[in-house]
Amino acid sequence: MAGTNFGSCCEELKEALEGGDFEPLITVGSDQVIYMTVGLVDLEEDEPGLVDHPLFFCPFCGTKLQTPEEVRAKSGAGDEDDEDGEGEKTS
Ligand SMILES: [Zn+2]
Repeated sequence: MAGTNFGSCCEELKEALEGGDFEPLITVGSDQVIYMTVGLVDLEEDEPGLVDHPLFFCPFCGTKLQTPEEVRAKSGAGDEDDEDGEGEKTS
């Protein structure tokens, strides 16, 4: 499993990622790491920030999606700040 094809394990995850009619809380970042939004945080801005956490197992069927090592490698270990929400604010 290469890991770039998230959503192939079950319909539920596929739909959660595609998010046709809703804003999905499970997203694949530009670093090809799959993240789950675990909460909201109040920033000093109008919109609440999303707290993302890498997802290691599918929450629906339990398939292993990625490993911590893969996440570290893909997201670039050492980057102090890898939060990118929905990608609207990239630096
Ligand atoms: Zn699944």
